[in-house]
Amino acid sequence: MRKAKVLIIGAGPGGCAAAISLANAGISVILHEKSAFPRHRPGETLHPGVEPLLRQLGIWESVRAANYLRHSGIWVSWTGSRQLQRYGADAQGPWLGFQAWRADFDARLLDQAHQLGTDIRQPSRIDRVKIRNNRVIGVVADGSSAEADFVIDASGSRHWLAHRLGLNIRYFSPPLVVRYGYAIGDCQACANLPSLEADADGWTWTAQLGGALHHWARLNLTDNQKAAIQLPRALREMRPLGPTRAADVTWRLVDRPAGPGYFLVGDAAGVLDPASSHGVLRALMSGILAAHWIQNIATGKVDEAVAHSEYRRWWQRGFINDVSQLLSIYRAAYPCPWTTGRMVA
Ligand SMILES: Cc1cc2nc3c(=O)[nH]c(=O)nc-3n(C[C@H](O)[C@H](O)[C@H](O)COP(=O)(O)OP(=O)(O)OC[C@H]3O[C@@H](n4cnc5c(N)ncnc54)[C@H](O)[C@@H]3O)c2cc1C
Repeated sequence: MRKAKVLIIGAGPGGCAAAISLANAGISVILHEKSAFPRHRPGETLHPGVEPLLRQLGIWESVRAANYLRHSGIWVSWTGSRQLQRYGADAQGPWLGFQAWRADFDARLLDQAHQLGTDIRQPSRIDRVKIRNNRVIGVVADGSSAEADFVIDASGSRHWLAHRLGLNIRYFSPPLVVRYGYAIGDCQACANLPSLEADADGWTWTAQLGGALHHWARLNLTDNQKAAIQLPRALREMRPLGPTRAADVTWRLVDRPAGPGYFLVGDAAGVLDPASSHGVLRALMSGILAAHWIQNIATGKVDEAVAHSEYRRWWQRGFINDVSQLLSIYRAAYPCPWTTGRMVA
C-alpha cells in the first residue's frame, strides 16, 4: 500500500472523527482549522448514540472525565400535555445523552487527533481548492499550496467545497433561521432535562448545560420568521450571557457528498434544524465512514467510484430518514405544504 495523504478542512466533530480514524489506519493527515481553540459552537445536547463512537475513537475516558451532565430523555410539549420522552434502554440500563460544552468537547477530539500524529495547522484557513482533470487534488491554505490523495471537507454548514465544485444542493424546507443564546439562572422546571416546547408559531428548546448555565434556541416554523423571540417564562427571568445569535438551518442536502478526490462530512454534506438532535452524531459517523472508504480505496480493496456511491447512499438514506421523522412531528402542529411533504423531492 502506498501511504495515502489526506487533507481535512475543519476541526469540528466531523473533521476530528475522520482525522482520528485515518491516523489509526496509518494514513497521514493534515488538518486545517481556521479558528484558534477554544472556539464557540452551538450543539451541546448529544444523542446517546455518540457513546459507542467516542469509544471507537478512543476518547471515551477523556469525555467521561469531563463529567458532562447526562440525561435520560427530553421533556416534550408538542400538541398535547408535557411528556418525558425517554431515549430507551438496554441490558446496561437507560441510554443517556450528554450536555457537552462544545468548546471543550471539540478540543478533546482535536487533542486525540494530535496525539495520534495528525499534523494540525491552526489557525489556518483554506482559501482555494485545487482541481486537475476533474479530480480534487489539494487546497491552498494561507497562500500556500498543498496536494493530497483526498480532501475531506468538514468545514460545516456553509458548504465550502460543494460551492466551489458547483455541486447541487437540494432543499427540503423553506428558509429557516434559528436564533439561540445562553442564560444564567435557576430553573426549577428544567429538572436537569432538555425541553422542547411548541406554540402557535414554532418551538423553543432549552437545556441546562451544567450549574446555572442554560442554552436556548428558538425556531419559528410558520411564515412568521421575524416574530419576536418567545422564551419560556423560566428563562425570561434569567440573566442573558453573551449575544443572541442566528444560524441558517434550512434543511438541505448536497447531492454528491463524495467524488473524485473528495468526501464531504457532517454539516458540509447536509443540514437539518436542531430539533433533529443528530447533528453531532451525523458528523461523527460520517467522519468515521469517510475515513473507512478512503482506507479501502487506498489499499485497493474497493474501486473509488464504488466507495463514492456507497457513501452517498448511506448519507442520503440517513438524511432522508431524519427528514421524514421531523416532518411527521412537525405536520401534527404545523400543517402546511412543506410539512405535509409536498416539498420533499
Ligand atoms: C442553534 C443550534 C443548535 C444545535 N443543537 C444541536 C444539538 O443539540 N445536538 C446536535 O447534535 N447538534 C446540534 N446542532 C448541530 C451541530 O451544531 C452541527 O451539526 C455540528 O456542529 C456539525 O459538526 P461539523 O463537524 O460538521 O461542523 P462544525 O462543528 O461546524 O465544525 C466546522 C469547523 O470547520 C472550521 N472551518 C470552517 N471553514 C473553514 C476553512 N475555510 N478553513 C479551515 N477551517 C474552517 C470551523 O471553524 C469549525 O471549527 C445545532 C446547531 C445549531 C445552529
